[in-house]
Amino acid sequence: MSSTYLIALGSNRAHHLYGRPEGVVRAAMEEVAALGTVAARSNVAQTPPLGPAQRRFANAALVLESELAPPSLLAALKRMEREFGRRSAQRWGDRVLDLDIILWSGGRWESGGRLHALTIPHAEFRNRAFVLGPASAIARDWRDPQSGLSLAQCNARLTRARALPR
Ligand code: ADP
Ligand code: MG
Repeated sequence: MSSTYLIALGSNRAHHLYGRPEGVVRAAMEEVAALGTVAARSNVAQTPPLGPAQRRFANAALVLESELAPPSLLAALKRMEREFGRRSAQRWGDRVLDLDIILWSGGRWESGGRLHALTIPHAEFRNRAFVLGPASAIARDWRDPQSGLSLAQCNARLTRARALPR
């Protein structure tokens, strides 16, 4: 049985073949497409550096229909990150490629494993404009099973929260 996944892509380092982060994300979108059928893909957006990372990020999202179960898809995405040259010890710093599973058609998913813990919905996506921007552009009516809000509503809420004076 095939499932539908919302996948977020990010890069903030150049790659020797694919060039700047935008090129890395475009190349990664092609590789992710090999894991199933791409139903929608966003533009590649540029985002200022975040946390200790020093460089500009490129971000995108795509909707993938795939026969893979969530742990198999995560393993394939992690393998792809390694192929693109990401070192596993880096978490928030500079990275060639980050691939996250944000939502899937099965609702919630939780599985353990020291190396490949997996939580869907992704624990941080509601706080990340660089995920919600591209994601709401391609799947605005898809609902977060936790809050019941559509991605468009999640994005509006985050954007509005940021715009409030402190
Ligand atoms: P982040 O994506 O939050 O910046 P990492 O990419 O370093 O951080 O992720 C660290 C770990 O998070 C991964 O090794 C993976 O096992 C786990 N993880 C848990 N849930 C997810 C998810 N929905 N998508 C991708 N990785 C996840
Ligand atoms: Mg990740």
